[in-house]
Amino acid sequence: MYTFQYEQVTSLPQATSLISEGGQALAGGQTMLAAMKQRLMAPQRLVDLSRVKDLVGIEVYGESVLIKAMTTHQTVEHSALVQEKIPSLALLAGGIGDRQVRSLGTIGGSVANNDPAACYPAALLALGATVITTKREIAADDFFLGMYATALEEGELITAVRFPVPNLSGYAKFKQPASRFALVGVYVAQTTSGVKVAVTGAGNGVFRHSELERVLTQSYKPESVDSVQIDPSQLNSDIHASALYRANLISVQTKEAVRQSLLKD
Ligand SMILES: Cc1cc2nc3c(=O)[nH]c(=O)nc-3n(C[C@H](O)[C@H](O)[C@H](O)COP(=O)(O)OP(=O)(O)OC[C@H]3O[C@@H](n4cnc5c(N)ncnc54)[C@H](O)[C@@H]3O)c2cc1C
Repeated sequence: MYTFQYEQVTSLPQATSLISEGGQALAGGQTMLAAMKQRLMAPQRLVDLSRVKDLVGIEVYGESVLIKAMTTHQTVEHSALVQEKIPSLALLAGGIGDRQVRSLGTIGGSVANNDPAACYPAALLALGATVITTKREIAADDFFLGMYATALEEGELITAVRFPVPNLSGYAKFKQPASRFALVGVYVAQTTSGVKVAVTGAGNGVFRHSELERVLTQSYKPESVDSVQIDPSQLNSDIHASALYRANLISVQTKEAVRQSLLKD
């Protein structure tokens, strides 16, 4: 490690002020601390959000669920509200990493980090969620800009994510066995305005698949996926899986997500 300043704040105005002066948010540290140890990041001033009570909690407003930024994956996994309104989201949170990661990792940190194999970005895109920040509200479709890139500006903090409640939804992840991140994960959500399908782990960042959305909007059943040829040309190839393998996994995981949504929602 190297020398840096550590600030423990207890209110959102305090946090916002320090972040606008160039401080870097620290949520559960699950990505941040490892990145600092490896010298991939070297913030001069860390602003620890873990004692900001206004950033923790889950609330339901009519047909939407609001999850505040510092809510841990473990809390989402066990939330009776999330289990009732969007069970696939509780399932997603319960499948993240291991128990230690889930007890410290947060939805705000996950979304801000936008790891190309993270689970939450797929949920936000498929469910048509809105990212709420200290400055504005950003639709998920406009928020994720490719690998580790988001629409967040300097000095802007995520305060919450708002999820519309779908009719049906499912998330199926083929885990990278060492990290448990998604080798390929697919989130499917059916609403009155159609079906959205978001894929994580397979490409340069999370993305929606328009052809899968089209066939599933026409007929919401696992077999519909068979008519779609997944193009591997833009997908990742690495030591874990080839692009062709990932393309096949997109079909398989989409079918599984649809199947799951019909069973559990
Ligand atoms: C072993 C391991 C396995 C994992 N497996 C999975 C998995 O299966 N699926 C998955 O989705 N994820 C996985 N993760 C990631 C994990 O879910 C964390 O959510 C992620 O690492 C972010 O951690 P954090 O919330 O502690 O944020 P931090 O590490 O504290 O912060 C991450 C980044 O987000 C910024 N940030 C944090 N909060 C905010 C905010 N409110 N507003 C603006 N910027 C903010 C920070 O400045 C930093 O740049 C895994 C992580 C580990 C270490």
